[in-house]
Amino acid sequence: MKMNKLIIIKYGELTTKKGNIKFFIKTLKKNIEVALTDLDFKIEYDNGRMFISSETLDEVRDRLKYVFGIHEIVEGYEYDSIEIEDIKENLKSLVTDKEIGSFKVRTKRSFKAYPLTSMEISKILGGVVLKNAASSKVDVHDPETLIDVEIRSNKSYIYFESTPGLHGYPVGVQGKGMLMLSGGIDSPVAGFLSMKRGVRIEGIYFESPPHTSEAAKDKVKSLTRLLANYSGYIRLHVINFTEIQEAIYKNIPHEYLITIMRRMMYRISERIAHKNNAKIIINGESIGQVASQTLTSMAVINEVVRMPVIRPVACLDKLEIIDISKKIGTYETSILPFEDCCTIFVPDHPVINPELEKCLEYEKMIDFESLIKDAIRNEEVLTIEKDEKKFEDLL
Ligand code: ATP
Ligand code: MG
Repeated sequence: MKMNKLIIIKYGELTTKKGNIKFFIKTLKKNIEVALTDLDFKIEYDNGRMFISSETLDEVRDRLKYVFGIHEIVEGYEYDSIEIEDIKENLKSLVTDKEIGSFKVRTKRSFKAYPLTSMEISKILGGVVLKNAASSKVDVHDPETLIDVEIRSNKSYIYFESTPGLHGYPVGVQGKGMLMLSGGIDSPVAGFLSMKRGVRIEGIYFESPPHTSEAAKDKVKSLTRLLANYSGYIRLHVINFTEIQEAIYKNIPHEYLITIMRRMMYRISERIAHKNNAKIIINGESIGQVASQTLTSMAVINEVVRMPVIRPVACLDKLEIIDISKKIGTYETSILPFEDCCTIFVPDHPVINPELEKCLEYEKMIDFESLIKDAIRNEEVLTIEKDEKKFEDLL
């Protein structure tokens, strides 16, 4: 009899979205193909799960841990017989002399004409485990080992171990968002969390050479590469912000520097988003974290755009954000000590409650429109592919 070791992917949350299920699953399949692109593998799927077979299953499993839209990654065995005697033999060879501990056998038959009921099969197979495993006892309520058996038309499956997936929706099912990506801790986390909701992100980074260094830009590229682990690749738009920032610095009262600077960033982000078919702006603002993130500041800054601005970490504490950044692997890079363009022009006393009228008045002092157009015309676009580096401890 043929035995095939494989990975079964459970979708979880996806299956609750009835109308879109086909599109979701197709997108998930495409994302998995991207994640496994240089490996030999075969995918089969239906509305309930996906089956992946490969000669390099361990590597497949490790990569699947980075794919959103997967609830559980289960390792199992596929057999081309559904005879109960064969299933008993197969289970016996898997459990013989193994420490199973307390266990439960759970059987599912999608082949309803099968001569035994699920309950009857579970009972028979439970007997096989009790007889052959090194130590085992039945516990139907809180088993240490759950043994799943499945019978489908002409094949049977046995699986034990499972690894939790990243959950969420497959990247891309919700269209695109433009992530304002600085070199800090917060914005990569914001990017991760929005990808988790199925948003494909592109990054936009404002640099101000020579006030900001090439190293600061490299840091943002590294962070983009780390985030690309979760989506295969990410496009990064690098905007030269020097002229705008210098114009602000020269012409505008210093307590409003940051407010006006951020209004400029928002304006440019919205235009770059439109140009690239992104529907939202995403950033790492967190309520109250700094002067530009008071509610009044956020409102006055937000006023320049019509596109929704999503702030995934708005309501998290810094420590909670740090915790996520450690788990997703961006923390160590985020804390490298390179200045970003905001820190260079930081005034001693930034306004905490900026007034919109003042912003409008100050902005008349500079021909921002042509500066913005220049900045956009000179954007640099990079496509950054995923890193091969792996992280142990994921969300
Ligand atoms: P982070 O840790 O992400 O740098 P922060 O706490 O330092 O955030 P700010 O510097 O006020 O906060 O920036 C708030 C948000 O604005 C950032 O999370 C990011 O989304 C965006 N942002 C700030 N600076 C830049 C930049 N140079 N390029 C692109 N986006 C930026
Ligand atoms: Mg920052």
